[in-house]
Amino acid sequence: MSQMKFVVLIFCFAFAAPAQTLDRALALWHAHDYEGANNEFKALVAANPKNAEYRYQWGQLFYERFNAEEAGNLYNEALAIDPKHAGALLGTAQLFADEYNGKADEFAQKALEANPKLYQAHELMARVALEDDNQKKAQAEADAALAIDADAVDGIAVRASLDLLADKESPWVAKIGNRGKGFETIAHFYVINRRYEEGIQYYRKAIAATPDLWTAHSQLGINLMRLGREDEARKELDLAYENHFRDAATVNSLRLMDSYKNFDTFRTDTTILKLNKKETALRPYFENEMKKIMATYEKKYQMKLNVPVQVEVYPDHEDFAVRTMGMPGLGALGVTFNTVIAMDSPSGRPPGSFHWASTLWHEMSHVYILTLTNDRVPRWFTEGLAVHEETATNADWGDRMTPEIIAALRDKKLLPVADIDRGFVHPTYQAQVIVSYYEAGKMCDYIGKRWGESKLLDMAKEFAKNRPTVDVIRDQLKMEPEAFDKDFMAEIDKETSKTVAGFPEWTKELKDVFQASKDGKTDDVIAIGRRIEGLYPDYVENGNVYTFIANACIKKGDKACALDELGRYNRIGGRDSDTVKQYATLLEEAGKPKEAAAALERLNYIYPLDTNLHERLGGLLMQLNDAPGAVLEYQALVELHPIDMAGSHYNLARAFKAAGRNDQAREEAINALEVAPDFRPAQKLLLDVSGDGK
Ligand SMILES: [Zn+2]
Repeated sequence: MSQMKFVVLIFCFAFAAPAQTLDRALALWHAHDYEGANNEFKALVAANPKNAEYRYQWGQLFYERFNAEEAGNLYNEALAIDPKHAGALLGTAQLFADEYNGKADEFAQKALEANPKLYQAHELMARVALEDDNQKKAQAEADAALAIDADAVDGIAVRASLDLLADKESPWVAKIGNRGKGFETIAHFYVINRRYEEGIQYYRKAIAATPDLWTAHSQLGINLMRLGREDEARKELDLAYENHFRDAATVNSLRLMDSYKNFDTFRTDTTILKLNKKETALRPYFENEMKKIMATYEKKYQMKLNVPVQVEVYPDHEDFAVRTMGMPGLGALGVTFNTVIAMDSPSGRPPGSFHWASTLWHEMSHVYILTLTNDRVPRWFTEGLAVHEETATNADWGDRMTPEIIAALRDKKLLPVADIDRGFVHPTYQAQVIVSYYEAGKMCDYIGKRWGESKLLDMAKEFAKNRPTVDVIRDQLKMEPEAFDKDFMAEIDKETSKTVAGFPEWTKELKDVFQASKDGKTDDVIAIGRRIEGLYPDYVENGNVYTFIANACIKKGDKACALDELGRYNRIGGRDSDTVKQYATLLEEAGKPKEAAAALERLNYIYPLDTNLHERLGGLLMQLNDAPGAVLEYQALVELHPIDMAGSHYNLARAFKAAGRNDQAREEAINALEVAPDFRPAQKLLLDVSGDGK
């Protein structure tokens, strides 16, 4: 008898207990005891190492608790046990979709093969397609989901979004009923299309329908923050946080708003500038550039903004990155939300790698085009136009052609104009976002060149009517999109074929240049370098041919040769601070102070947080009798708190005096003497300007 009981017990333990444990794990999870649930899953998986379902469920818990990495690991483990586990395939697709990775679609497809009734996979594919602005596919996939389950909320929401994005009334909205998630999906599509106000409106609807939808509270907060409505943003983010919704975007956004106290705000009639308190030296450079840009774009886009443009400059790249979290196309240097621009500070990146003025022209172009089109512009066009603007004012600005772009050109990976948006949103290879920026920029260059600059404005006005790319190309360029692609590719080939074909040779011989330089064979460096520099002239980064040649010239004592070479480096867009300064020195030595000042002025657009730069440039401008220019440089110098504070105040005093601003000259001479009371030149200057200071 007792033996019998024992057998029964074993039986129960072996077969019933695991089910109880899964139930227990799920029960704890639903009771928000995440740690308890996690422990249950851990035990369950340890006891059943070959069970794919348990690992998948555990992964779902991690996914819900903001640990995408662990979720991904567990889905992978589940798939290693059962490659056709539909849930794990869909979970993986979801993770890719969250990062705007092109593989999302592929995994959703696999999930459907494993389980054709999995309507959520169709919903996911519909979402990805609509993010790419592929409306046909989005509708087909939403319909496929609805054919399996007529009540599939994301299927309904995608159908609704298709109508709403086209500015049409939608019968689908009512079908969402009281399911906040459906409104949240619509809000997501508005935000993806930079229609933040409408996005905010739909997040509010989502919350009204489902008050405890914390994801919607968080997203509402983030989008309010993007538009600068900080009080309300904080309220929503705090609410999500207090209710244990603590994903990276929520936590980091709150942290970012806390850091706003470290910023100073400078206002003019048309501009708002937020700078870190340590970087107020940037103020005149940014304000002047903003005004210059606005004057240019007002003419070019034939419109005035009716609110000031706000520019926020972040010294910590991570802070800036928070602004773009959960958005496609990362790695950006700047981002525009209606009339608010957030961007890296020159100090947020290694000096020489970032041209802040290019970025500002780029982002401000978005402000105008988004305003002009009421945000109804396809991604490729607004990005292409912004890239086009970077080089429109100065050819040496903007991004240079990178080796990844050369590889994409070689492998014919550029996308047709009708599909190019997906290259920005769901890249299928590493460099596709960069390649898409390049391609869209070149498309706008090409349109401007062939049909005239004003054609770009005509197109923007058509996009304002919410017309699709293919229609605008047909109407405005009087050709089929396929014909446009063909002509455009022929132009790109003409421009780049030499570099694409010559790239292997350039790569190989650049190594020879390096070796020759190492061996001190200066004539070889110059000969090989000159032979290959025309193959890939855009390469101005580390280890570029120009610098090798210039150094070889200097070693030979041939300054004219170095000057010539560095001139090329500058014109083509070389940005290394030391190299540009070396060029300026050679120009000065050659008796060309004006050209030397111009070379140094280029650096103000790249890395203006450099005391030595302002000191040198201020000196040159004084020599050239450009007193107002010298004032600007010495003011920047003083703002940066250089080691020689007394000398800097004195120099600023001299510049003020030369500019006829004696009151300020006197003030600065006094500032110099406060630091160094025995500073004779400052004493003398003070006497000079005190005589006729009225
Ligand atoms: Zn952009």
